[in-house]
Amino acid sequence: MLNRLVFGLVCLAGLAGLSASPFAGEQVPFLPQKTAAVASIDRHASELARLSDQVWAYAETALLETKSAEAIAAFAETQGFRVRRGVADMPTAFIAEYGQGAPVIAVLGEYDALPGISQKAEPVKAALEAGAAGHGCGHNLLGVAALGAALAIKEQMVAGKIAGTIRYYGTPAEETLGGKLYMLRAGLFKDVDVVTSWHPGDETKAETKSSQAIVDFIVEFHGKTAHAAADPWNGRSAVDGLEIFTHAINYLREHVKPTVRIHYSIVKGGDVPNVVPDYAKLWCWVRDSDRAGVEDVMARVRKIAAGAALAADVESTLTVQGGSYNMLVNMKGQRLVFDNLQWLGPPRFTAEEQRFAREIQKATGTEQAGLDETIVPFLEKPGPPDGGSTDVGDVSWNVPTLQLTVTTAPKKAPWHAWPVVACGGMSIGHKGMTYAAKALAATMIDLFSDPAKRAEIKKEFAEKVAGKPYQSYLPDGPPVIPRR
Ligand SMILES: [Zn+2]
Repeated sequence: MLNRLVFGLVCLAGLAGLSASPFAGEQVPFLPQKTAAVASIDRHASELARLSDQVWAYAETALLETKSAEAIAAFAETQGFRVRRGVADMPTAFIAEYGQGAPVIAVLGEYDALPGISQKAEPVKAALEAGAAGHGCGHNLLGVAALGAALAIKEQMVAGKIAGTIRYYGTPAEETLGGKLYMLRAGLFKDVDVVTSWHPGDETKAETKSSQAIVDFIVEFHGKTAHAAADPWNGRSAVDGLEIFTHAINYLREHVKPTVRIHYSIVKGGDVPNVVPDYAKLWCWVRDSDRAGVEDVMARVRKIAAGAALAADVESTLTVQGGSYNMLVNMKGQRLVFDNLQWLGPPRFTAEEQRFAREIQKATGTEQAGLDETIVPFLEKPGPPDGGSTDVGDVSWNVPTLQLTVTTAPKKAPWHAWPVVACGGMSIGHKGMTYAAKALAATMIDLFSDPAKRAEIKKEFAEKVAGKPYQSYLPDGPPVIPRR
C-alpha cells in the first residue's frame, strides 16, 4: 500500500512540475529520474526485504558481521557493483561502487547487531534464541536500505540519466563506534563529494540535531599488594586510587555543563577482601555536544586520575581507546533531504501494523500511539543533541554528510531493545527500509544532477570545519577483532 501511495504522490509531483511540499522552503525541482528511482526500489522491494531478514536473522555483533557483510556485498556484486572486501584491516568492511568519475556520491551502510537482545518478530518480549544478539538498532534495515538506494542510482546510470560514481560503504562496528574511523584513517573517503546516511527511528525527519561527541578511555591504577590484616601498612591499594577517582568524578558533575555526560564501569576492583589489591581498572565515557566540550572535561579528568593516584600513593594511567565526533550538521544538505521527504510524502502503515505497534507500546508501558505517519517539520534551531553518539559524526567532519531518520518502530519504543528487533524483522521494518531507500535515492539524484546544490553544501562544510582540523580518537594500530 505504501508503494502505491508513494508512487501516486510521485506522479502528482511530476504533473505539478515541482515538489508537492505544503511547507515553505527551497522546493526541489521535479526530476523524472526520481520517479524512476522510486519505481526501481519498488521493483527490488521483495529481494531487499529478504536480504534484510537474512541479516536480521544472522544478528552478528561488531566486527564479527561476517555473514551479514558477505550477504550484502554478494548482492551488490550480482547487481553489477565492483566490490572491495576487507578494507581498512577489517574483514567485515567493504566498498561497493558503480560508475566512474565525478561526482562521487556515497551512502553509508551498517549491519552490526547488539548482544543479548535476541527477539522474535512478535509484539511481546520473546527471545528467538536466549542470550543471543539481536538487531536492536535496526542496522539490518540500515545496511540494506542504503544498498537499495545505491542500486536505484546505478540503474539510472545504466539508463544514461545520471553520471558519476555511486559508492556504498559497508561500515562494520557502529555500535562500538569504530568502523568508520578506521575507514577514514585508511583514506577511503578522500575523494567523496557528499555522503548520505539514514537511521531507523520512531519518526521520519531530516535530522538537524547533532549527536554527542564522545571519548572512550580506560583508567588503571597500579599499587602494591600486602596481607590486608597482617601488614596493610606495607600495601598501597590500587582500589583506593580507583575509589578516590570515581568520588572526584562524581564531584566534577556539579561543575560541568548540563550537556556533559560521564559514565563508567568498574572492570577490576580487587579479588578478595583479605588482599590489598595492586591493580584496579575502570572503563569510562565522557560526552558533550561537541569535541571541544569533551576535551575541556578530559583535561580535568586527567588531573583527577593523577590526583587520585597521588592520594593513594599508587600509579595511574589513562588510555584513550576510541571516541567519536558530534555530527557536523549541514543545513543546506538537510534542507535538501527535507524537501525530498516532502516530495515523497510520509510513510504509511496498515491497520494491522498499527495494531502490532500498539501491542508493543502496551507491553512496554508507553502511550499506545502506534507508528508515526508524519514528517517532522524542519527544525532550524534544534538545540543541543539528545543523548547518543555515532561514528557517522567522524565522517561528517571529513565529508559533508546528510542524515535522515525514518519510522521503523513504534513511537517512543525503547531503543536498543526488543521492540526494535521485533519490528525490524517484519513488514513495519521493511516499509521503513523501502521508504528510506527512496528518500536517499531521491536526495542523491539531486546531488548528482545539481552541481550548484553540491557546491552550496560543500561551501557550508568548508566554512564549518575551517580552523578545526579533524583529529581522530583512534589509537595506533589495526582494530582488534573480538573473538567469537
Ligand atoms: Zn544504530
